[in-house]
Amino acid sequence: MTNSTLNSNSIKKHDIKDKTVLIRVDYNLPMDPGTTNIADDSRILASIPQIEYLLKRNCKVILLSHLGRPNSSSDKEFSMKPITKRLSELLDKPVLQLPGCKGKEVENQIKQLPFKSVAMLENIRFESGETKNNPRLSRELANLADIYINDAFGVAHRAHASTEGITKHIPSYMGFLMQKELDILGKLMSNPDRPMTAIIGGAKASDKMGVLKNLSKTVDSIIIGGGMAATFIKAKGFSVGLSKYEDDRLSEVINLMEDHKNRAEIIIPHDVIVADRFHADANFQVASIDSIPENMIILDIGPKTSQIYNGTISGSCTVMWNGPMGVFEWKNFSSGTINVAKAIAGLEDGTTVVGGGSTADVVSKLKLSNNVTHVSTGGGATLTYLEGKALPAVEAIIKND
Ligand code: AMP
Repeated sequence: MTNSTLNSNSIKKHDIKDKTVLIRVDYNLPMDPGTTNIADDSRILASIPQIEYLLKRNCKVILLSHLGRPNSSSDKEFSMKPITKRLSELLDKPVLQLPGCKGKEVENQIKQLPFKSVAMLENIRFESGETKNNPRLSRELANLADIYINDAFGVAHRAHASTEGITKHIPSYMGFLMQKELDILGKLMSNPDRPMTAIIGGAKASDKMGVLKNLSKTVDSIIIGGGMAATFIKAKGFSVGLSKYEDDRLSEVINLMEDHKNRAEIIIPHDVIVADRFHADANFQVASIDSIPENMIILDIGPKTSQIYNGTISGSCTVMWNGPMGVFEWKNFSSGTINVAKAIAGLEDGTTVVGGGSTADVVSKLKLSNNVTHVSTGGGATLTYLEGKALPAVEAIIKND
């Protein structure tokens, strides 16, 4: 997938004046638990340039997204209504909430909509055919508009009716945000300013093995943290106390660390924070990795490790980060993650990319999003891309051209 292939699918190359345009956006926003209050509206903000571009060209803009994991359309807590309201505030213009995502009533309301206006379909996951990539649902969605734009990078790794199937029935293009995400990740993987460091953390080594293997061929250093560090420490021959490690991944991890064909140096923690139980209020202490107490669990990287990681980060020209260094949700085990976030934000002349999911939440909560080059709107999609795998929704648009 080259940048020139992607550019030919850009909406900027096509005459779209006075068209009805369906945009697949990713408005699957974090909500405050048990409420319909939006906790972070970054994804709406990121979608606005594309919407405004279309409005300037007198288009009718119809937005389509999923939100959460509803069981059926009667799961009203997953309605798009709060998002529609917030979008209307941010655009400073009315946004019509449509009653569903398909069917005569929705089609009629779209027909009656004046040009230069915006409407939002209901949560596409209210339709059981969405995740099954049902061809009939794809066709019904395509019937709503003249043109389809996919701007939902966050679900680009899913072949669903609204991301993949629909492109078989309607002229389909890449949105601005999708293009931006792919350009940034493309440069990271093909031509980064060096030295480049990848920081990979998170719960389990098995979730990140594909990414680690692919990155190890191109980046200069890989910093390891999070729950998955236990498997790396164990693979080095140390005891990890009561920490969960993945026995069936040990040989893969050893190969990764010892494979001299790899470009990357794999850097694992020097010390860790261990706790006497998996709890926010657990007793904790610092331990060197060669003396982790038998009855304790690793919940964060230690202070010496933070210092070492700072040195590697500050000496890099490109940094990519995915996955927390510890159980950052609990204050006592958040220092390693906060340290990495601050070190990345402090890298003044480098390119810094934060790869979606919980890592993006950390950076946003620390109000550091503006201090990094790019915070990706996709967690799973970023990981799929970094693994070197195809993104089905992107491939579908390239085929449609
Ligand atoms: P992931 O979605 O794979 O990036 O993992 C994020 C989750 O990993 C967060 O919810 C963290 O609490 C969790 N995590 C990070 N470090 C640890 C650790 N040492 N032990 C258990 N869970 C961890």
